[in-house]
Amino acid sequence: MKWGIIATWAMAYEGISKAAKELAEDSIAGDALEHSIKIVEDNPLYRSVGYGGLPNEQGIVELDAAFMDGDQFNIGAVAGIQDVKNPISVARKLSNHQFNRFLVGQGATAFAQKNGFERMNMLTDESRTIWEKRVEEMKTKDLSPYDGHDTVGVVCLDHRKSMAAGTSSSGLFMKKQGRVGDSPLSGSGFYVDSEIGGATATGLGEDLMKGCLSYEIVQLMGEGLSPQEAANKALYDFEEKLIRRKGKAGAMSLICMNNEGQWGVATNVEFPFVVATEEEEPTVYIANKGEGYSTIIDKATKEQIEKCE
Ligand code: ASP
Repeated sequence: MKWGIIATWAMAYEGISKAAKELAEDSIAGDALEHSIKIVEDNPLYRSVGYGGLPNEQGIVELDAAFMDGDQFNIGAVAGIQDVKNPISVARKLSNHQFNRFLVGQGATAFAQKNGFERMNMLTDESRTIWEKRVEEMKTKDLSPYDGHDTVGVVCLDHRKSMAAGTSSSGLFMKKQGRVGDSPLSGSGFYVDSEIGGATATGLGEDLMKGCLSYEIVQLMGEGLSPQEAANKALYDFEEKLIRRKGKAGAMSLICMNNEGQWGVATNVEFPFVVATEEEEPTVYIANKGEGYSTIIDKATKEQIEKCE
């Protein structure tokens, strides 16, 4: 059986490369996925996930994460968790619980502490400086505070045809305390069914959650659409609907993979993502929206990858 893994943004490259090796050596999807996301969470240079993630209005880093196992539909999620090194691992642990699978704020942080997850101050000096500068700029300039965000989202297929999906994010820079995005919400930020495939989302959570787009993509793949057709249909139909009814749509990008290791992506902004499969070395691609509900996908050049980093 083939394995495969796909992830949002070029920041996932290192994690996907490691996960690809693990999958080639017969790792299970959940392990490979968790390891790939932890690598992103641990890197302080990525300002939208884990350690070094940008804080909320109050200067506090509040993190969202989710894990889903596509065999049994086990879901675990945390939102607004603080001072915990790897939110994805807490989410995965919660996915094995029968009750209390989605914990928020102090409850999520207390659960992590009680269960021995590593605690750590997730605000780096660099992120604090960016926050302080933004607070000052906002006093004098008419700036939208919400322009720093990117979720790492991963869909993974292993040799046994088991699938997993996961997300981890610090959400929107300067978000209100307690604001939760789409990333930990089942159906919006992520969804996976090992008999079909999985999807995850990144972009403006407030718009993504209106469409439940990850679930929609999985359902469309289940009806027989290829991953690329499903991603195009779900996102561009919904974007058109949002613009028609509300006048505008925020940035939205989705990745997906079916249980054959075929993948797809749709986006309404320039969007780098990473893929590795049994047949393909870890590769960074750049997607852009094309004419007539299509997506243009190119291999990223070295310069483009460097620009993302
Ligand atoms: N979707 C995330 C959120 O709204 C942010 C992102 O992926 O860019 O919290």
